[in-house]
Amino acid sequence: MNYTTKQLAEITNSQLIGDENLHIKNIAFDSRNIFSVLNTFFLAINTSKNSGEKYIYSAVEKGVSVIISERQVLEIENVTWIIVEDSVKFLQDLAKYHLHKFDLKTIGITGSNGKTIVKEWLYQSLFDEFITVKSPKSFNSQIGLPISLLEINNKHQLGIFEVGISKPNEMEILEDIFPPQIGILTHIGSAHSSNFKDEEQLIDEKILLFKNSEIIIFNGDNELVVNKINDLYLSKKLISFGLKHSNNIYIKNDWKNKNEDLKIRYFDEDFSVPVQQRDEATLINVLCVIAVLKEFGFSNSKIIEKLNALKSIEMRLESVNGLRNNLIINDSFNLDLDSLKIAFQFINEYNKPLKTLIITDFVEGKNSDQLYHEVAELTNHQNFGKVFLIGNEISKFNKLFRAETYTFNNTSELIENHLFNQIENEIILLKGARKFEIERVKNHLELQKHDTVLEVNLNAILHNINVHKSLLKPETKMMAMVKAYSYGLGGYEVAEFLQHHHIDYLGVAYADEGVDLRKNGITTPIMVMNPEQHSYDIIIDFNLEPEIYSFRVLELFNQQLIRKGIQQKYPIHIKLETGMHRLGFKEDELGELIEKLNSMNVKVESIFSHLSSSDDFNEKEYTLEQIEVFKKNSEKLISGLNYTPLRHILNTSGIVNYSEYQFDMVRIGIGMAGISSNTEIKKQLQSAVSFKTVISQISEVNQGDSIGYSRKYRAESGTRIATIPVGYADGIPRLIGNKAGNVGIGGIIFPIVGNVCMDMMMIKIDDFAAKEGDEVIIFNSKPSLEEFADYCKTIPYEVLTSISRRVKRIYIKD
Ligand SMILES: *Cc1c(COP(=O)(O)O)cnc(C)c1O
Repeated sequence: MNYTTKQLAEITNSQLIGDENLHIKNIAFDSRNIFSVLNTFFLAINTSKNSGEKYIYSAVEKGVSVIISERQVLEIENVTWIIVEDSVKFLQDLAKYHLHKFDLKTIGITGSNGKTIVKEWLYQSLFDEFITVKSPKSFNSQIGLPISLLEINNKHQLGIFEVGISKPNEMEILEDIFPPQIGILTHIGSAHSSNFKDEEQLIDEKILLFKNSEIIIFNGDNELVVNKINDLYLSKKLISFGLKHSNNIYIKNDWKNKNEDLKIRYFDEDFSVPVQQRDEATLINVLCVIAVLKEFGFSNSKIIEKLNALKSIEMRLESVNGLRNNLIINDSFNLDLDSLKIAFQFINEYNKPLKTLIITDFVEGKNSDQLYHEVAELTNHQNFGKVFLIGNEISKFNKLFRAETYTFNNTSELIENHLFNQIENEIILLKGARKFEIERVKNHLELQKHDTVLEVNLNAILHNINVHKSLLKPETKMMAMVKAYSYGLGGYEVAEFLQHHHIDYLGVAYADEGVDLRKNGITTPIMVMNPEQHSYDIIIDFNLEPEIYSFRVLELFNQQLIRKGIQQKYPIHIKLETGMHRLGFKEDELGELIEKLNSMNVKVESIFSHLSSSDDFNEKEYTLEQIEVFKKNSEKLISGLNYTPLRHILNTSGIVNYSEYQFDMVRIGIGMAGISSNTEIKKQLQSAVSFKTVISQISEVNQGDSIGYSRKYRAESGTRIATIPVGYADGIPRLIGNKAGNVGIGGIIFPIVGNVCMDMMMIKIDDFAAKEGDEVIIFNSKPSLEEFADYCKTIPYEVLTSISRRVKRIYIKD
């Protein structure tokens, strides 16, 4: 979309206060999620649950200059307001206007189940024939649909949108905005929101979407649907699909027999299609897609080609191989009786005799007594050996289940349960309402699938941060340094966790790292320490805050702000040189710096410097000198600005050893991993990183046998050698071979013998009772990260950042 503020006001009959010539291309609703302020308006959406007005101020602070709201809540300079009667209606009116400007074919999809799958499949089948726009994710509500429609531009030839409702009278509004030419009704489920009286009301409401459609393609397995559509829309072209043979398109042969292709009957024509997955839900959706493709005039061979190319997003039921030869079927997408039946059907296709069910409380508002009786009855038909019930509701009905039945309050309890952790050779069905996060069970069961992992314990990181915080005043802010892929621990996962725990700032080395975080939903302010010239553009677009360390950088960055027409004061951080002799402004530059800063469109968020030797008491004098210079020069700088930026100089060991110089903020890095130069503090920290693998093979060697490349080790006597699948390509330095380094098995240290290979190394374990498949610790507790760094003749920082990306990172948190 691209409208001026004046047009927006006119189209929606709203009042404009301010600049009428601003161009608007994007909408923001959530002030935490504003990545680019350029050409963006902030819409304060008021719903019965929430008011967006409270986020206006922070949107403006981030630099948004156009606010659309039901009231002008603040007097703010340089902000253009569009005052609307109803924020949701504004969006809908705009979307309606927007859609009318274009001439594209439209498909609208409604129903209880399968909307998103059908939409995605149609998109996959049609996007190379037509330039197609579709709703992102499952944006289909009173707000989601308009937002999706605003994505349409004049290149698009086809639009495929989901239309969902949750209450009566909503469809009429949506149909008014978006009357699709082709209307699709997917499966109508038995589970419906308690906002509807009954199924009939739900159907009546949904099919209103088709009021102005030319063609209606609908699931005709439900008789009520068939009758209603035939009554209401007799004059339209109607095509029904489904498993019943009364439909216009159905499957003629026994679809449960996987050895045969599906024989499709389409009106009076027959043809076969190969479809591997044979559960009812998938087949019904496939029939729907075929009906639409037929409507587009595709030949049968082309349709088959399209079906073959469909990516299996139908795998809502995901199956993964788990520990102890279990097969895990994960369906944590939603939980209702229909999806439960589908899941049961699905697991019956696997022939594993032993079956376990893990199921949680349902969250729908039906009479729970009746509901859980039905659940138990369905379950009892399936002959599960064990049933694990999670949640207080369903647990009350444990007596109804004919199986070994266990109850738990929450998912964590189950994961810790001893019995559950002993299940072997079974098919385990996970069926959970989303709020129970039952996918954690899946992660738990498949955890050790990866032989070599770097396990990051997020709780330990939080603990370590809190240990450092306890040394500080409560009001002192904290920046977490997540540069270099969070010191090798992982990209957004660590940052996301820190954001969740309200870290004040994040620090990265390069703009790319910051962009990566933003794209993964990180909205915490981010400082970029090496703002390279080519990256100024994305720094601004993604709302990142550069470290400015020289006049050259300051001027180039300012030029970019001007070029991009940035109106607000852009946040930057000034680096002072105090003794590290790396980057930063020196004392004699401060006068000129003040002048420049005051004349430019920038706001100094913070002034900082970095200590060279905060971990080394022999350099205490030098450190105190650095702090003194910082204090003096930062004060001088502040006196020249007419506001007071934050100041900070302490890194991890600075926090520990020089906490009286904490100023307004500190920057923690390696301390998060559990490393400290101070032995007292070190005792309080937890190791947050564990690099581990498993023994691939154990072999017996005789005296004189040589191990590995170049025969560097020869057995002094007969012994046992364990081979482990990590090598220098995983970031293990080759210099720790030949007994320079050790690894731990069962809490005992064993030497690495021979040269380290690219992907493997060999350990001398003598007659220690280890077996193939046992866990090997490269570092965690024994040996510790520090000990391992010593073997490598380096420091923990380098060890962590050297572990290659191919090593899978696993995150643990409660
Ligand atoms: C990396 C870094 C830190 C964090 O250092 P640690 O010793 O890991 O705490 C702090 N400040 C700056 C400028 C850094 O580059």
